[in-house]
This record gives sequence, C-alpha cells and structure tokens, in this order.
Amino acid sequence: MQTYAYGFPRLGRAKEYKKGIEDFWKGRIQEDVLIQTLSQLQADQQKTYRKHIDIFPEGEMTFYDAMLDTAILCGVYSPRDLKAYYELCRGDDALEMTKWFNTNYHYLVPDFRRTPVPCFRVNRENVALRFQRGAFPKFIGPFTFLKLSKGIRREDFSRVFLALMEVYHDLLLHCEKAQLDEPAFVLDLENDEIELIKTGYRLLKDCGHKIILMTYYDAVDFMEELLSLPVSAIGLDFVRGGSSYQYIVQHGFPKDKTLIAGLVDGRNIWKTDAAAAVAKLRALSQKTPNLMVSNAAPLYHLPLTVSVEDTLDEHLKTRLAFAEEKLAEIRMIADCVEGRRAIPEKVVLEDYGRDQKVQSRIRSLRPKDFVKGVSPQERRRRQEALWKPPLFPATTIGSFPQSAEVRAKRAAYKSGRLSHSDYQAYLRGEIDKLIQFQEDLGLDVLVHGEFERTDMVEFFAQKLSGFAVTQNGWVISYGTRVYRPPIIFGDVSRPAPMTLDEIAYAQTKTKKPVKGMLTGPTTIIAWSYCREDIPVAEVAYQIALALQEEIRDYEKAGIRIVQVDEPAFREKAPLKRRDWDAYFDWAVLAFNLATNTRPETQIHTHMCYSEFGEIVEYIERMDFDVISIETSRSKGDIIDAFEGRQFDRQIGLGVWDIHSPAVPPVEKMLDIVHRALRHFPAKNFWINPDCGLKTRDWPETEASLRNLIKTATILRKEYAKDAS
Ligand code: GLN
Ligand code: ZN
Repeated sequence: MQTYAYGFPRLGRAKEYKKGIEDFWKGRIQEDVLIQTLSQLQADQQKTYRKHIDIFPEGEMTFYDAMLDTAILCGVYSPRDLKAYYELCRGDDALEMTKWFNTNYHYLVPDFRRTPVPCFRVNRENVALRFQRGAFPKFIGPFTFLKLSKGIRREDFSRVFLALMEVYHDLLLHCEKAQLDEPAFVLDLENDEIELIKTGYRLLKDCGHKIILMTYYDAVDFMEELLSLPVSAIGLDFVRGGSSYQYIVQHGFPKDKTLIAGLVDGRNIWKTDAAAAVAKLRALSQKTPNLMVSNAAPLYHLPLTVSVEDTLDEHLKTRLAFAEEKLAEIRMIADCVEGRRAIPEKVVLEDYGRDQKVQSRIRSLRPKDFVKGVSPQERRRRQEALWKPPLFPATTIGSFPQSAEVRAKRAAYKSGRLSHSDYQAYLRGEIDKLIQFQEDLGLDVLVHGEFERTDMVEFFAQKLSGFAVTQNGWVISYGTRVYRPPIIFGDVSRPAPMTLDEIAYAQTKTKKPVKGMLTGPTTIIAWSYCREDIPVAEVAYQIALALQEEIRDYEKAGIRIVQVDEPAFREKAPLKRRDWDAYFDWAVLAFNLATNTRPETQIHTHMCYSEFGEIVEYIERMDFDVISIETSRSKGDIIDAFEGRQFDRQIGLGVWDIHSPAVPPVEKMLDIVHRALRHFPAKNFWINPDCGLKTRDWPETEASLRNLIKTATILRKEYAKDAS
C-alpha cells in the first residue's frame, strides 16, 4: 500500500521561517538570502517526507500565505518584488485577513474589487513561484480560491471561475502532476455551485491525469459528482468526514482513479487508532485496488515533533503524535495493512487526568446556572449607578506591546534565572507605567496590559489543571506569527486564582475601572488540542466554572468590569450548517455559565477576524453587556450584519486595524463610527481598536491611541445631545 502526505509544517525546527522573513522585514537580509532560507526549509520538508512517505508534493512553500500566492499566480495582484509582496500582507493597504475554514490559521483574502479586469496568466517570473516547486507542486484549487476570495459579484462568479480555469490549465501544462486543494468542497454548496465545479473541472480534462484533488476538514456532500470529476486521484478526510467513507463503502469508487484515504488526523495530536484505520483501509480495498493512505488534513495544524518535548509527562507523551510522528503513523498503517508488521495496540487515556470532583460538579449543573436572573436593561441601570461612563467610552482590547524586555523577563522567570518576587515586581512596574500611560491618554476603561501572558490561551493552560503545555510545539497562526496550542488531557479545574494578582493590583493604581481579562471557554478549546473521549460540551463547562470562580474573586477585589474574550467563537463552528445548533448550544451556554456572576459586574466579550455576519443570531444569545468586534480588515462589512436587528446591548466596532503598523488617521476612525451609527444608537457605542496590541510597537500604539481618543472626543461633541 502506498503512502501519501501533504501540508507538512513550514516553520522549521528553530522557527527559521519566522526568523528569515522577519529579518527580511527588518532589512537584515536581502531577498536572495530569504529565498535561500525558505528553499532550504522546503528541502528539509521533502527529506522528512521521504523518510516515511512514498508520494508527496514537491513545492508547498510560501513567502507568507498560499491564498495570496494563488491570487498572484492568477494575476489578481502583481507585486514587482518581495517588498511589494509583503505590502500586500502587512502594508497600509494590506489584504483583509480571516480564518481558514474552522482552523486557527488565518489567510489573506484576495479582493477582486481591487482588480479592474482580472487577467489570468501564469507568470513564471511571478513572486509566488520564486522557489523551486519541482514538477509536482501543490496549489489551492480554483473553486476554493474563488469561494474564499471576496469582491466577486454573485452573477459574475461562474464567468470568473471558468476564466480562472484557463490559468489552472496553463499551470498544469507546466507540471508533471499537481495537488489541487479543494477544502471548499466540504462546505454546504448550492446545486449551481456543484454544477459549476463539474463544468469547470471538465475544462481541465486533458490535464486530468495530472490532478490530485484533495479535500479535507469534513465530508463532501456531493460524492457522486465528485467521483466523476476528470482527475487522477481524490483525497478524502475520513477522520472528520465519516459520511464520505460510508458513501464509498456503499457505492464504491471509480476504477480509473486513486483513492487517497485520509485516516491520520491532521488536526489533533492523539495517536491514531491503528486497528480502526487498518479496518477501514481493508474495507476500502474491497471497493478499489487503487488506494493510498494519508493524513486527513494538512499537517501544518500540528507542531513539528513530540521527540523534542522533554517536560511532558511520559504517560501523556507516549499517547501523542505531532506532524513527524503522523508521517510515521501513515507508514505504520500501510505496513500493518500489508501484514509487514503487527497492529499496535490502541493507546487510550482512560482514567488519566480524570477528576471525580469536577465531574460531579458538571453533573449537578441545572438550567438556572446558565441564565442570568437580571435583564440586560436592568443590569445596565445598576452598573451605571456604580459607574457612569462618558458617551463613546474609549477602551482597548487588553494586551499592550510586548517589548523584547517583557519577553526576556518572562523567559528569565520561566527558566529560573529570575525569582518570583523579582518577576512580580517587574510586572507591577510595567502595570504602573501602563496605568499612567492610559490615564494620560484619556482612556475610560483601563487594562493591565497582559504582560504576564505569552498567549491568551497558553497562559490559562499553565494555570488550570487538566492542561499540558509544550516547550516547542509552535504552530503558525498567520504569516510569521506562531503560538503553542496547549493539550487538554483531563478534567479541568482551577487550583488557584489565575489573573487576580495583576488585575487587582492594577485597580489599586487608578480610580478608573480596570477590566478583568479572561479567555472564554470556546476559544480555550479551539486553540488547544482537546481530548476526544470527553464530550466537548463538558470540557467547555468545566472551563466555564473555572472562569466563573475567577470572576467571583475579581468581584471580591472590587473589579467592576470583566472581559471574556471569544475570538474563536465563529472559527470553531462546524463547517456544515446542519451541525451548527449542536455546537452553538454548548458554546453559548459555556459563555453564559462562565459569566453568570453578579449582575452589577459589566461583562464584555471580544471577537475578531472571522465572518461574524452569519452568526449574529448566536452572538445575541450570549448574555454579555458589551461586545467589541474587529472591523477594519473586513472594511466594515460586519456593520451591515447588524442592519435591522435592533441590537440593544453595547458594542464597540474596532476603529484601528492592529495587524498593520500604520497609524490610522482620525478621519478613518470617524468614518467607521459614522457608518456604524446607522445601526446602533450612539449611547450604546464604544470606541476601541480591532484587537489586542501585543504585536504592535509603542510608538504607533501611542500615536494610534491618541487618534482614537481624538475620535471619541469629536464624537462626544457631535452627539452631545444623545448623552442625556
Ligand atoms: N485580550 C486579548 C488581547 O488583547 C484578545 C486577543 C484576541 O482577541 N485575539 O490580546
Ligand atoms: Zn481580537
């Protein structure tokens, strides 16, 4: 049995990818050196594949993002050089960024409105093609590319799609074979879209023998049509797409194609149940002789290797497989099918990490635990009796620039070079400065800055029981930004307060309210690797109870405002609408459980970088008092999602795109607010950036916040009559 794999992480063991690109941005290295670095990483990738895998694409590297590359290949953008390329990623007029399917990878959204007449042409001098991609490259498929782009009118979609097919045809002429990724095939598609896919792929027919069509993240609902497309091989995700597997077992698989059976999870870190995978392969081999085994989703959602983790508990470690180990598993499963080795026994966690006390608390939850007894209107009255904010209150989302010094101190503390008391003293000094800074600027609701946090999920994972964290388990979330997803291996509880020290301390330094800052249950789960044999709703309620305890501690310390961030609320939603209710039920309940504390405590939440338009109805079920949502990258599209909804709680739509170092002018901020005020009364509107500021530098932070305060001041004058 042959093995197939794709999507191996590009980061490199020492994060060479990140370092190389950032060095280029800082002018430390030239273009040719960067190309060399990335080519070397690509060569390393290939070497790793070769150790375990028979067939794999040769060219998967990108300077930043594969969606942008595809847009460039197709002539939607034509950056002259790498500098111009990176302008599209992070310049003043950068592309919008949004989450890739239901993952925490963010892609750049090609915008067809910016291209007068798209001229589809494969240009070999093209920035996107500067690496050696070999004879067997991997590209994002035409349908997925177009479906995830924006600015194409509905009535133009098929025309543009068919034109796009010419580019892909051209591309294929240059290749021996190519992997085309079509994860959008697993979305809920309309019949006319399925027809279009058929028509479009028919145009590639004479190159069909070269095409390896890869789908992943869920099942494909139009299997019959899919299997009839003129391609040589089709990859399916049998980990998250059970119905695709069922379909083939029932209806068979065409003789003229190869089936690439995705049986090794590309999105979670648990070892594969080899016996189950082998059984599936045997069943599939009854249906087709042309069968390969592969990963079930690109492996870049996983860290590189478990082997370098020496602080993980042995019992846990032996149950894990990261990207490299997944490649070995693919090989192992193929060997087992062929009887070349014995099928290893299933490794399960069983009682490991389980906690009876936590479980009985979950069992004792009653419906009223999830519902606030006091209406939002009454809560607002009570909250304002304690503290009345000005019109257009100005605040930030939580984090402030994490300077090299902050990061160095944290690292020193972690490695034991800095004592706990010295570290704490340092943090307090930073909080002192930040409180002063925010007061000087004139912000209304202050934050402590999150200097103690490496990351909004990992930080909590380190404090909660039931979580493990890795030392080197880095994964790219966008561009060169990386994070280490924690592992939820057991029942979750809070042994001690997690953030109380810093928040309570910050509040002693000012008369203005300081926001307590927590990460919500859904986001913690979404950005962690979660144990799979405990129902996810239960895990969410466990986390929610831990957060609720923290908020109750805040309240005792005199904190009146608490923000529970849920940036992954949309992203974690299943790809198929039919699965939405089941998901949002627990996601909403978990939020409401976590924040079901004193009605006098003003609860904020924050969301960003997703298509929120479609989920406004679920957001409304979350019982917060104030929500802040990112706006800039989607050029304000979120604003219209609220049209006609009479949203009656308080809201702040981001006026500053924090992914770019550019300082937004006051006029731009005013514009966003004026547009928003068509749907929201002024008395409900907050002024805030799109997201946290931890990736920014101080100079632009200060300049941008000054503009933000100016914006609020102008608005207060304009709308003074609304204040009463
Ligand atoms: N409070 C977090 C911060 O400011 C929110 C980050 C996020 O939404 N991703 O960093
Ligand atoms: Zn955010």
